[in-house]
Amino acid sequence: MQVELLKELVRTIAGKDTEAIVDILGSEKSVNEFKIAEKLKLTINQTRNILYKLYNQNIVSFTRKKDEKKGWYIYFWVLNPLKSLEKLLNFKNKELYDLEHQVKSKENKHFYICASDSLEFNEETAIHHDFICPECGQLLQLATFDKKIEELNARIKKVKKEIIIVDVELAKIKEIKQKELEKEIEKKKRLQKAKRARARKQRKKAKAAANPKKKSKKKKKSKSKKKKPEKKKPKKKRR
Ligand SMILES: [Zn+2]
Repeated sequence: MQVELLKELVRTIAGKDTEAIVDILGSEKSVNEFKIAEKLKLTINQTRNILYKLYNQNIVSFTRKKDEKKGWYIYFWVLNPLKSLEKLLNFKNKELYDLEHQVKSKENKHFYICASDSLEFNEETAIHHDFICPECGQLLQLATFDKKIEELNARIKKVKKEIIIVDVELAKIKEIKQKELEKEIEKKKRLQKAKRARARKQRKKAKAAANPKKKSKKKKKSKSKKKKPEKKKPKKKRR
């Protein structure tokens, strides 16, 4: 599991200081929601709020069990690795798109900046103000975004790497799932085969039990030959 990336995902969806949930639900066992609250040091309602946000995005799922003593349901939560990684991939692809868009816009558009108060203006606004800062009256300067573009490109490189990592992880999980599915199908086939064999055996047995001798067959025949009692014709009514 890509714990750090998943934490980033959880933080994005559920808000600040929620990422510890990835550690708590990290193992494949489902966890009692009261335990999750205890570990997060939050109230049960705060904890449920976080879990519902993640549940709405398919990142976690739950099972519930009835507490026989208290009579209410207790929820047990578990992380969905496949859905989480798919979500993460979407999220990273969107981030990449945004970053690339930012680079393009910084490369192709001219920006103007006021050196004294760091205000930024697009070309249209700068022309409108005759290249003079409306705040302090200083002459605006054509901004170079080389440093910013460099930063963005570094970030793009990082996100691309993360996408590859998630892709690999996703492929692994899908392969495991596929194998599990194939195993299950094989098992079903075997069970059905055994069931059919049993049914055949039983039919044979039943057949043997139904007509042990020919005598019974004869009796059956004679019985069938018997005439059915004819219906009596309704008597004519006297006039
Ligand atoms: Zn200014």
